[in-house]
Amino acid sequence: MISVTEWRQRLESERAYDLVAEMLERIEKSRLNAYITLNRGALKLAEEYDKGKLEGRLAGIPIAVKDNISTNGIRTTCGSKMLEDYTPFFDAHVVERIKQEGGIIIGKTNMDEFAMGTTTETSYFGVVKNPHDEDRVAGGSSGGSGASVAAGETVLSLGSDTGGSIRCPASFCGVVGLKPTYGLVSRYGLIPYANSLEQIGPMASCIEDLALLLEVIAGRDERDSTNAGKSFTFVPEFKKFRIGVIREMSGNDDVMGKFEEAVEAVRSLGCEVKEVSMPSFKYALAAYYIIAMGEASSNLARYDGVRYGYSLPQLDSWTRYFSRVRAEGFGSEVKRRIMLGSYALSAGYYGKYYLKALKVRTLIKNGFQKALRDFDLLVSPTMPSLPFKIGELADPLTMYKMDVNTVPINLAGLPALSIPVGFVKDLPVGMQVIGDYFAENKILSFALELEKVYGV
Ligand code: GLN
Repeated sequence: MISVTEWRQRLESERAYDLVAEMLERIEKSRLNAYITLNRGALKLAEEYDKGKLEGRLAGIPIAVKDNISTNGIRTTCGSKMLEDYTPFFDAHVVERIKQEGGIIIGKTNMDEFAMGTTTETSYFGVVKNPHDEDRVAGGSSGGSGASVAAGETVLSLGSDTGGSIRCPASFCGVVGLKPTYGLVSRYGLIPYANSLEQIGPMASCIEDLALLLEVIAGRDERDSTNAGKSFTFVPEFKKFRIGVIREMSGNDDVMGKFEEAVEAVRSLGCEVKEVSMPSFKYALAAYYIIAMGEASSNLARYDGVRYGYSLPQLDSWTRYFSRVRAEGFGSEVKRRIMLGSYALSAGYYGKYYLKALKVRTLIKNGFQKALRDFDLLVSPTMPSLPFKIGELADPLTMYKMDVNTVPINLAGLPALSIPVGFVKDLPVGMQVIGDYFAENKILSFALELEKVYGV
């Protein structure tokens, strides 16, 4: 891992051009498969930095961007054959902000197809390997964004989180990752999977760097109607917080051993720790998948092979053309979700599934609101297990169950961080820290103290 401070120190004695060229070369030789596309323009930007022409808070810093975030002139595939040759002609809001602050986008990171997955195994471009054990997954869906930070194949990265896709790879790769409050970061230019659940967020080697990237990407953007118009400035203010350990969010023995140690570490900081129960959580996973798949089925209707994306040379009948494009362009997980989502939204089943899921969503929101009246922050293990072996989770339901601790946060729209709390069998374990709406400052202040206990 390379922190921003370390990178800046290197920039004092070496040319940005050489450092970036070396990083690009290392990525090309890497077996991790963290990137789908490298940005050749990165070298030009590095040259500008060397000439003193690149300024800003991220000047000269390499940043990897998940491949569902639009980058003007750089291929953006969403990890899908459907968008294999798609190059946007505009930048996402977050990319504009990074460019304004002098950041160097080094490349686009590998991900589950349309962000649907927990292991990056659904990517059309192949699985991302875990830097701590190459036989294991790096997590997903932002697997490339997690692995690239952990392996020093970038300094910072951006992921997106619909049901855990930033926090899962952060946990599996041993880095920090934050899913911001819904509405803090503009989704303009994020290719949608499930709009009402997702946020773009930062991943980094340490809290200080995470906060820096969040400060840059958060803020007003009128092109996203759900944007809250709030900016973010990190002012560390640690207090002896009241911390709630969520009983319904747990993990296997490997994970729980480390998590319990982490809870002791929290106590040693002087925080008051108590257990809190949220019975409505048992419905969260089912509600999440119904809502996410419903939104996905509607969002993915746009891939018709006409306007953009995978297309076929001959148009015979419209229906046959449309079906063949989608049959060939989408992978099996995406098709499964389109079918299930369409089913849950269909006239006969809407009330039974979708509407019910929305009611559960309200229950979960209320549960969090109640708990956050008694506690400053809530904690849980981020993932219920250590990183899996590649191919280990063969059936979809087992895979979905791995999101049990992360999806309730997206249903409620709250911010949550994953922070490394040590290793079991040489594999990292992450702790999830959840706060109230727009309580990112509290989450990061707490995490900064915890990071001192564990070291970076
Ligand atoms: N694993 C979850 C899913 O497949 C979350 C993915 C995400 O956050 N993009 O829906």
